[in-house]
Amino acid sequence: MTGLLLGLCATAHGAEAPRTVLLLDSYGRNVAPISRVISVFRTELTARCPEPLDIQIVSLELARFSQPEKAHLVVDFLRERFAEPQPALVVSAGGAAAGFMDEHRDLLFPGTPTLVAGVAHQIAGNLARRDQTVVAPMNVDLPSVIDGILRLLPRTRQVAVILGASPLERFWGDECRKAFAPFSPRVAFEYLDRLSFQEIQQRVAVLPPDTAIFFGLMIADSAGMLFEPADALKIVVEKADAPVFVLFESFFGSGAVGGRLLSEHAAGVQAAEVAVRLLQGTPAARIVVPLQELSAPMYDWRALRRWKIDENRLPPGAAIRFRQPSAWELYGGRIVAALILLLLQSLLIARLWVQRNRLRQTKGHLARSEQRLRQIANALPALIAQVDRQQRYRFLNDAYREWFGIAPEAAIGRTIREVVGERFYRSIGDEVARVLTGEAVRFAKEVELDDGRGLYIDAIYVPDMDALGHVFGFYALVMDVTEREHARQESLRLHDALLHAGRISTMGELAGALAHEINQPLSAIMSNAQAARRFLEAADLDQVKEILPDIVSEAARADEVIQRLRALLKKSATTVEPLDLNALVGEVVALLNSNAVGRNVRVVTDPDPNLPLVRGDRIQLQQVIMNLMLNAFEAMDAQPRGARMIAIRTGVRASAVTVAVADTGCGVPAHDIETIFNPYHTTKPNGMGLGLSICRSILQRHQGRLWVENNSDRGATFYFTLPQA
Ligand code: ADP
Repeated sequence: MTGLLLGLCATAHGAEAPRTVLLLDSYGRNVAPISRVISVFRTELTARCPEPLDIQIVSLELARFSQPEKAHLVVDFLRERFAEPQPALVVSAGGAAAGFMDEHRDLLFPGTPTLVAGVAHQIAGNLARRDQTVVAPMNVDLPSVIDGILRLLPRTRQVAVILGASPLERFWGDECRKAFAPFSPRVAFEYLDRLSFQEIQQRVAVLPPDTAIFFGLMIADSAGMLFEPADALKIVVEKADAPVFVLFESFFGSGAVGGRLLSEHAAGVQAAEVAVRLLQGTPAARIVVPLQELSAPMYDWRALRRWKIDENRLPPGAAIRFRQPSAWELYGGRIVAALILLLLQSLLIARLWVQRNRLRQTKGHLARSEQRLRQIANALPALIAQVDRQQRYRFLNDAYREWFGIAPEAAIGRTIREVVGERFYRSIGDEVARVLTGEAVRFAKEVELDDGRGLYIDAIYVPDMDALGHVFGFYALVMDVTEREHARQESLRLHDALLHAGRISTMGELAGALAHEINQPLSAIMSNAQAARRFLEAADLDQVKEILPDIVSEAARADEVIQRLRALLKKSATTVEPLDLNALVGEVVALLNSNAVGRNVRVVTDPDPNLPLVRGDRIQLQQVIMNLMLNAFEAMDAQPRGARMIAIRTGVRASAVTVAVADTGCGVPAHDIETIFNPYHTTKPNGMGLGLSICRSILQRHQGRLWVENNSDRGATFYFTLPQA
């Protein structure tokens, strides 16, 4: 109740001017571990106390002014400074300040609640018990340090103890000696507190093996130099050739190995809690502060590594700090990515390698196949060339050598004109121009070489073209068909001769009839001439005048017969001209008229008045019609006289001009329908069997056809067709 009232009072009071909390700091510099307790305490107190506070820190500088005779200067200052109003709470931080307070509190701040914070239990136990004073002690467990060292490094034979020479440190020197005595003789202790820090640095660098260092404090060395202990520790760690152990958390993290430590943070928080309660008016006697124990063990991973301390030796539940993540932990992702990349790259390389091998193989195959092609090309009896757009040879086979007497290699890169000569080039220039427009060209013609030789060539030019129609040149396949051409011409000549012979033999058959035909006009001329002579003797010139035109016309008639005969017998080369088949039929019918009469055959013609012209050789086509008619005459020999008839019709069948010669003869046995057109097939005792075969070959050369069909009643009909002109 009182506390609550006081707390309220304090709040009301604080609203005017904040109450003062006086904090007495032992050293007033950044002297760990007390500096850390103070900073945590200030922060925590401000955060936890509901009222604003005026926290004033006074440094006692007890490292510097440790002489008791000078203590009064500080006391005077404090009395002056905090006489009125008295602080609401006085807090001492650290063992040195605790001693000072123990001595001067009653004089300075009688009745003021006091908190003795950050004080080791060894010191706290020596303090006088007072009203209104709360002590927050820390268990500065010195033997645990040596236990910790031996646990980690069981071979340790010696421990070097680093402490300064300030009064507090001297106190701790004594404490250590007492606390560590039980570890002898297993461990020898070397106290460096009589050395200057300079000497300490030299010493720690040359410690014997199996030595550990316990860094206690370094506030002031034996030479009177002041230190910030954490900085001094860093230097020791750097110089030492042995692992360094500490007891305070403040010293952990700069290379000390670690172990069970005292937490200044916990001490600061604990002190702030107590301070709040004292400020709220809780009587000191009611506040029980437990002894602050060592925290759970923690170790510096870097120091463990440096001194090769096996992690298995650490006590259970030990925390390892400052572990530097391994490359894997740090860059695991990137390493995986890099590995994947590497793998992909390797796969890619492998693939490229395989492809390269395939390419090599393919190149080999290509080279071999090209070689084969070359061999084939060279073995061909034709000239093969590849020519580019500029008409330069890109490839030539061996045939080239035979044609032009030049090694193919010598012609590569040269133009056609240069290589084949002007005359040859002129005869193929048009075709070359055409193939270079993208048109495939096939031609056969006679060409002339520069040496005057004539060649017949049969050539194919194929453009070398891409899908878009770009022409890069052309391929030429040229065959020398001179011999074949000569043979063809010879066969034509022979054919013509055969036709001629055929006609002459026909003439033999016609001879009788023709003689009769010529006889008629001749006898007419004869009788007319005799009549004319008689009329001349009778001087009847008028009658003579009348008779003479008859003589002329009869002579003309005889001449006509002879001319026709001569035309047929003339040995002439084939000449193609437009022909009217109706007229041609009429002429042959006229020529054979006397034969027909002599054989008692009636010849009927049925010409198609709209018959288109055909192109062909007049004599040869007449020969066909005549042959068909003569055969018809003979086929009807066995027929009674009145039943012998030939009907010749012309017309258009399936767009071809057709002539049909129908007779009423014996007809053709079914099995001979085709064979009668073979040479030497005859059923006649004096027949040659050549007539129909000659007729068929004439029609073939005119792109026409010749065939026979038996009539339904009697006889056969021979048809031939010719394309329209
Ligand atoms: P040839 O008249 O010398 O026998 P062809 O080649 O003209 O030679 O005729 C061959 C054969 O065809 C004749 O022997 C004959 O048997 C047959 N032949 C030809 N024309 C007729 C026809 N109009 N009717 C029946 N048979 C025919």
